Amino acid sequence: MQEELRLPYYATGDILRAAVREETDLGKTAKEYMDRGDLVPDGVIVGAIGERIDSIEAADGFILDGFPRTVPQAEALAAKLSELGRELTGVLLIDAPDDEVLRRLGGRRTCVENGHVFHVEFNPPQREGVCDVDGSELVVRDDDRPDVIRHRLEQYHAKTEPLVEFYDHRSLLRRVDGAAAPEQVADELRRTLATLKLETGEAV
Ligand SMILES: [Zn+2]
Repeated sequence: MQEELRLPYYATGDILRAAVREETDLGKTAKEYMDRGDLVPDGVIVGAIGERIDSIEAADGFILDGFPRTVPQAEALAAKLSELGRELTGVLLIDAPDDEVLRRLGGRRTCVENGHVFHVEFNPPQREGVCDVDGSELVVRDDDRPDVIRHRLEQYHAKTEPLVEFYDHRSLLRRVDGAAAPEQVADELRRTLATLKLETGEAV
């Protein structure tokens, strides 16, 4: 999706997981929180994202995925952007009931070598437990375990959901129906991002 839009794409999950793999200081701190299904503290995330936004490759716009997740993060992001003389074009909310989230995340299987992602129901590998691309083992990532997903949902409702009002109030929120079929959700996201990009070239 990010290739079609030609915008750099910053997914906090990927940035953090790479840091965990490389056992950097950021990674070691983040891992303790992620393994419990807790949110990584704002200061840690905001620092990592701030560096990327303030780079030449992000000069014409960028997409953030998985950030901000809390009102303080959103405020820190707004402060960083205003420091750079920029602002958000739009915020996408993929709206889905908890049961649907459990079904989708709980069925996810990730390849241990290269992080290729499959789904037992929506995108099963040809051989159970084996990555189609490189033949590595497929596992349930620690944060895709049902007990951890339930904990993440609690965290979501407590800490992330207030952002819906935060951004709706600023007329930035666009809702996408997350209970639709995965391809439909992807199409809808692509359409919404393309429209936002036409408007000014930045999106979250
Ligand atoms: Zn793989």
